[in-house]
Amino acid sequence: SGPGSNGTPLQTRPSQTKIKAKPRIERNRCLVTGGAGFVGSHLCTYLVERGDHVICLDNLFTGSKQNIAHLLQYENFEVIRHDVVNPILLEVDQIFHLACPASPIHYKYNPIKTLKTSFLGTMNMLGLAKRTRARFLLTSTSEVYGDPLEHPQTESYWGNVNPIGERSCYDEGKRVAETLAFDYQREHGIEVRVVRIFNTYGPRMALDDGRVVSNFLAQALEGHPLTIYGEGNQTRSFQYVSDLIKGLVTVMDGPETGPFNVGNPTEFTMLELAKLVKEVANPDAEIVFQENTADDPAKRKPDISKIKNTLGWEPKIALRDGLLLMIDDFKERLKHERPVNAL
Ligand code: NAD
Ligand code: UDP
Repeated sequence: SGPGSNGTPLQTRPSQTKIKAKPRIERNRCLVTGGAGFVGSHLCTYLVERGDHVICLDNLFTGSKQNIAHLLQYENFEVIRHDVVNPILLEVDQIFHLACPASPIHYKYNPIKTLKTSFLGTMNMLGLAKRTRARFLLTSTSEVYGDPLEHPQTESYWGNVNPIGERSCYDEGKRVAETLAFDYQREHGIEVRVVRIFNTYGPRMALDDGRVVSNFLAQALEGHPLTIYGEGNQTRSFQYVSDLIKGLVTVMDGPETGPFNVGNPTEFTMLELAKLVKEVANPDAEIVFQENTADDPAKRKPDISKIKNTLGWEPKIALRDGLLLMIDDFKERLKHERPVNAL
């Protein structure tokens, strides 16, 4: 069944089982900022399939029309090219606020714009939530924990962030976005949800975004060496994108503000990841070691007890299975696109 045909009820609107038969006005109107990006395009697909009316808003800085091309045929999907740094007037019920470059090379490219996007963009979308009384979900990040001194990271940990380093535009931008969200809730009674996303991977990751999973997979498939930055002892915990989407929707439709960590707690060193990618994509690929970037967090692993105990969410897809699920998409795109930064 295609999008629009299998709507399941929303917690907040339990009568919406036969989406197709409902007048358009009764649909849940969801705004997805950053909807043409990696995560946003998967979220838009999920919401369109659920039968919601989805408005994808994006300035196409790191997102692409290609990511949402499969949705354009559905009458419950529309796209607006717009920059969240500027206000916009729309009528919506839920705002999933994702718009923000997420990979280090993209957010470092124009750090002041990254900060404007995080601060002004979030303020504008909270203003929209205030006017429409929409529920607002912020996609924050594990980067708010910086180079963490607590391991694994619980939501009560305040973090160890360098406020003036090269990553600060993103880390501090997201921290102030969280502050804004909580202040709008306290001051204006907006229904706010905050999710701290840990490293996520899957089909439609930009080939040139420099993140480790997309780099290693593209490198292995092209027969190039896998580039480990530093000695490869730093750790990350990788979640497959479909697990994240279920987490985002669970938090949005659930009763609690959060913040909630949403990630897969199984931790890997970058050397372990490189070996796994080799194994599933190209056993002949070499591994090379390069100088690491500044302020690279040494370890990262979410404690997900809070979301598991309160909302019953936990990830389902193991890293090896998730990598296998993205290989075909990467192979296909590598025929037409050059991953300029990845190789
Ligand atoms: P992405 O770069 O693929 O998507 C971001 C989208 O936002 C792109 O489509 C981009 O064009 C759009 N955008 C950027 N600035 C904008 C602006 N000023 N106005 C309008 N649109 C703008 O990144 P992603 O991985 O899909 O990340 C989505 C969200 O999830 C981000 O907020 C990111 O911080 C958060 N997040 C992602 C991860 C991850 O591992 N993917 C981890 C932590 C947090
Ligand atoms: N990394 C790497 N090789 C690459 C790209 C990244 O070893 O080709 C490392 C990077 O130094 C970091 C980890 O992989 O320790 C995750 O990097 P990514 O940019 O994917 O995400 P983040 O640092 O934001 O977690």
